[in-house]
Amino acid sequence: MADSFYKPYADVLTELFYPQRCVGCERRASDVLCRGCFEALPAYRASLLSEMRRAYGS
Ligand SMILES: [Zn+2]
Repeated sequence: MADSFYKPYADVLTELFYPQRCVGCERRASDVLCRGCFEALPAYRASLLSEMRRAYGS
């Protein structure tokens, strides 16, 4: 019961602190890739990041 009461607040906080969505698994993340996906793709890390930087224009 307490869980369902507090869940909306947790979602709001998650939205505030993790506005991005991971492009790998679509979970919320503080960057375009969550840490799990980032660590899981060492071979593609450099090319992925440069792709994203281009896509996000930064
Ligand atoms: Zn991910």
